[in-house]
Amino acid sequence: MSNGRVVGEPGSTGVMWFRRDLRVHDHPALTAAVASFEKIVCLYVLDDRLLRGRLASQNRAWFLRESLAELSGAIAARGGTLVIREGRPEAVVPALARQVAARAVFVSRDYSPFGRARDRRVESALAGGGTDFVALPGVLETEPEQIVNGARGAFTVFSAFLRRWHDIPPRAVLPPPTDIPDPTGLGRLLGRGQDGFDPIASAATPLPAGESAARARLERFIGQQAGRYAHERDQLDLAGTSRLSQDLRWGLISPAEVVSRSTGAGAGKFVQEVAWRDFYHHLAWYSPRVLREPYQGAFAHLDWEAHPAALDAWKAGRTGYPVVDAAMRQLVTTGWMHNRARMIVASFLTKHLLIDYREGERFFMEHLVDGDVAVNNGGWQWASSTGASAQPYFRVFNPVLQGKRFDPDGKFVRAWVRELANYPNRFVHEPWAAPAEVQEAARCMVGRDYPAPIVPHAGAAAR
Ligand code: FAD
Repeated sequence: MSNGRVVGEPGSTGVMWFRRDLRVHDHPALTAAVASFEKIVCLYVLDDRLLRGRLASQNRAWFLRESLAELSGAIAARGGTLVIREGRPEAVVPALARQVAARAVFVSRDYSPFGRARDRRVESALAGGGTDFVALPGVLETEPEQIVNGARGAFTVFSAFLRRWHDIPPRAVLPPPTDIPDPTGLGRLLGRGQDGFDPIASAATPLPAGESAARARLERFIGQQAGRYAHERDQLDLAGTSRLSQDLRWGLISPAEVVSRSTGAGAGKFVQEVAWRDFYHHLAWYSPRVLREPYQGAFAHLDWEAHPAALDAWKAGRTGYPVVDAAMRQLVTTGWMHNRARMIVASFLTKHLLIDYREGERFFMEHLVDGDVAVNNGGWQWASSTGASAQPYFRVFNPVLQGKRFDPDGKFVRAWVRELANYPNRFVHEPWAAPAEVQEAARCMVGRDYPAPIVPHAGAAAR
């Protein structure tokens, strides 16, 4: 793999292969490709293993499709073409490189075990044809090689990682290229509804996709909300977070640009969350086994319990704990869930129900538009106390107290658990505690119109 600049001879061609970097702003690989070659072929490969494999998600497929449509337009506006090909990248990329006599293929580095193995195969197939593979930063704020512990591995304590992370000089944010000259007019051009990519319906109603929507979200957050982030980020009843997770996941904006824009009051806390994202990616880079098993060996053989009915109730938002149920319904309806709520429902599944965190991890990957194997795994291992820098195993979130604290007036619960719309604030997080006449007046009897808790908190926490 080359990290250096390839300078093509006059008239020569380079390929820009997009993956999870679906933007034209602040794109080191695209900028390098345009600077190095007179002609650029832009490529996206629809890989069936990702679209229909173990971690497939209709919501993410929809978001990808919409974002590709916009990327195609942004490239076309600069004189280029986004070629969409289906198949295995290890076959498709070298074939396209041969077809256009490309001297180099540029990518933004991918850090997942799947992406790394795929890239190694593509790189070696390209090398056979004399084509360079140039992998540049752009997906993370810091590279795994920049932050290593004494044993040349990943930091496993976040506070130590964060100190190093702050020491790494930020990369300069790059302007979008003005021209992406296309020599060939090759391939099928993706457009909405065109046959380059079958129409996909989202199972949920996520935020609008595409680079311009992501940039508008960034502007809104920096301009209007960032100053209040540190105080409001945990509140379930406020829109206190950036809502940029799917944009960072798909590379509609770069972490470098997000961090460089975050300079005002409260920026420290926000930037720290972006650093967590790097932390989990670095961890999976150095210890890919975390994606399959608990990071902490002591928890490798936990006796998780199989509770199909409880798992189904959790998935359906029918556990009888309003804050858990509201969060799960928000996930299934919108493809997103608030971070505080993710922690609560993950703690509930693993510590109240004693169900293997991997069940929850899989369900999240099915629904989250921002679903990312490394970050999702990190979140689940944090909440189930099996991971690096995780919360201690004996800390069990009390869903009633969490609800009262982070949704004091029950606004979040009432928005998603419509059955409880008429409950007074006092009982909205523990409807079973309301006297029968209050339940009757609220037109929601616990056990009839809304489930009684499927497990008592006190007993579960003690277990
Ligand atoms: P903000 O609070 O505005 O944060 C800004 C950005 O920082 C986010 O967009 C995200 O990229 C990053 N970030 C924030 N919190 C975290 C965190 N705890 N760990 C790592 N990065 C973070 N995030 C994902 O992007 N994809 C996932 O698949 C994912 N799965 C999770 C599963 C569990 C069980 C938990 C507890 C957390 C998970 N998170 C995941 C992290 C976090 O919940 C989301 O990133 C956040 O809720 C997204 O909302 P936001 O963009 O408004 O966040």
